[in-house]
Amino acid sequence: MKSAFEAAEQYFAEAASVLDLSSSMRTLLMTPEREIKVQVPVKLDNGEIATFVGYRMQHNSARGPMKGGLRYHHEVNADEVLALASLMTWKTAVVDIPFGGAKGGISVNTKELSIDELERLTRRFVDELHDLFGPDKDIPAPDMGTNAQTMAWIMNQYEKFHGFSPACVTGKPVELYGAEGREEATGRGVGALTLATLRRCRRPIEASTIAIQGFGNVGTFTAAYLEKAGTRIVAISDVSGGVLNRSGIDVSAALDWVRSAGSLTGFSGGERISNDEILALDVDVLIPAALGGVLTHENAKDVRAKMIVEAANGPVTPEADAIFRQREIPVLPDILANAGGVTVSYFEWVQNQQYFRWDLRRVREELEKSLTRGFDRVWATAEEKKVPLRTAAYLLAIGRVGRAEILGGI
Ligand code: GLU
Repeated sequence: MKSAFEAAEQYFAEAASVLDLSSSMRTLLMTPEREIKVQVPVKLDNGEIATFVGYRMQHNSARGPMKGGLRYHHEVNADEVLALASLMTWKTAVVDIPFGGAKGGISVNTKELSIDELERLTRRFVDELHDLFGPDKDIPAPDMGTNAQTMAWIMNQYEKFHGFSPACVTGKPVELYGAEGREEATGRGVGALTLATLRRCRRPIEASTIAIQGFGNVGTFTAAYLEKAGTRIVAISDVSGGVLNRSGIDVSAALDWVRSAGSLTGFSGGERISNDEILALDVDVLIPAALGGVLTHENAKDVRAKMIVEAANGPVTPEADAIFRQREIPVLPDILANAGGVTVSYFEWVQNQQYFRWDLRRVREELEKSLTRGFDRVWATAEEKKVPLRTAAYLLAIGRVGRAEILGGI
């Protein structure tokens, strides 16, 4: 199986050849601007010192300050963070927000650390990197394993060196310069674009069945949005496994359960299924909303969904993608499908720069407008060039970043 970065390179290369991009431009666009790996030592509550490894990969800044999340997960490694950083470059370009792409991560199992240890870890990471961060340089945000609290620590630590600068990080708590609607934004965007895809495929929304793998920040807001829109959420899952209910899962009951029990284990709203089984259900839409690389050459042939919406980053390997193309199962690519998060991050950054707060209605309206515009452009490009949606999204993104490189010069 290809590594995460090799997979990202392959998707890039497919679009680059449709564009007939020169090899020098290909090299310029795929070579990261800066790759950073730092030691992050933390004094544990028991007095011992634990040493972690942290990364920040700054992929491209041709279109603006670099932007992307910070992931805390035990499987984080340099290759994966680099792949995710390049996805951010294309993601900000597809939805045309004035940012480049970056991504960070720390290889850590957050369940093994106390809240105080996590705070010290985050502050120490900022100590190492604060000179490379900044509202006009590189702006972190939440990703797997991090949340608004993590972003508040980042802002506070950054400000110890640089003074008041709320725009140095996004996804902050609403009480501390965060934007209304940022937390729900990725899931809401996935939900809205799933409806848009169903409409384009001429499938009635009311009768549509949905399976969502992953019940974290993205999966929960996606499920709630789609349930409200009238689709039937027939299966959900988290690391502990999944639940199937053909007549529809009660999403708010599942959320309440997970809030009190910590996972879906023991939730009685349906029959238990495994994380592998959820990927093979006969549904209209399959939404992988957890880890990357879950749909592979091994299980792609078992997929019975009519379409796939990539809520996670990189959930479909290039081998699986080729199988879906051959089987004519449309895949709405991550760089468009989950761009709602970074779009509202952009709105948060704008509000911070202006010391002005938008209300939730305005955030939602602007989000919908921005994603719909991106979706329509991608769909039209796919039809015009007769290429899959992913290639179309990359065509638009690479075109924009490439033009910025040429106009700006070196
Ligand atoms: N981590 C999110 C992503 O992968 C959001 C990034 C951001 O808001 O900067 O798109």
